[in-house]
Amino acid sequence: MKPDITVILLAGGQGSRFAQKTPKQYLPLGGKILALHSFDFFLKQACVQEIVVVCAAEYQKIFQKSDLPALTFAPPGKRRQDSLINGFQKRRLPAALCCIHDAARPFIRQEDFTKTLAAARATGAATLGYPVSETIKSCTAKMLVKKTLPRKTLYQIQTPQIILSSLLQRAIENVLAKQLLVTDDVSMVEALQEPVQVVSGSNHNLKITVEQDLKWAEFLCQTNTY
Ligand code: C5P
Repeated sequence: MKPDITVILLAGGQGSRFAQKTPKQYLPLGGKILALHSFDFFLKQACVQEIVVVCAAEYQKIFQKSDLPALTFAPPGKRRQDSLINGFQKRRLPAALCCIHDAARPFIRQEDFTKTLAAARATGAATLGYPVSETIKSCTAKMLVKKTLPRKTLYQIQTPQIILSSLLQRAIENVLAKQLLVTDDVSMVEALQEPVQVVSGSNHNLKITVEQDLKWAEFLCQTNTY
């Protein structure tokens, strides 16, 4: 099968929840730069036609290697959704599907990627998710409980998220026209009332958000348990 996926790797965050000056995705993890864990994963995938890395100019050199499919860079936007839109607009070889991934998630598993891709091909849009283990409550600004949500129906949503490029194009146009705020990519598809398949993954696919996450990820690398 011909390669038909554009990967948009989001590495444009400032890491404001970290005390360090260097954004978290450029800190070392398991002997290499954190963002390269997922970048190298996508490099190995035969279905990938182009990788668009969304990052500040000063970090581009981290991703420049010799054995690449097409590599393109896009500047970060103010919010995550702006970074995604920049990445989408910079594609040079528009492919049938876009796979969006947070560079802050170093431990994608092959089986999870394969399952998500199959679901996206079948449904048009798919995301990895993980059943929540704790009770989730919706609260007021003063932290009074409004509602306890039924846990059986709740998933923590991760990346990769894979969406048909034509559908993502429409979804982005809708977000821009209505000035919607979204915190992940498939939310844009939901706003069009189009179906999104959640694929059950695992809690190995952790997102490095605070310094403690990085310590935990380092432990997982050293003990080979991710
Ligand atoms: O901030 P958060 O952890 O939700 O970011 C998820 C991913 O999106 C990270 O890999 C981060 O670098 C990226 N991001 C981005 N542009 C932004 C904000 C976040 O590329 N403006």
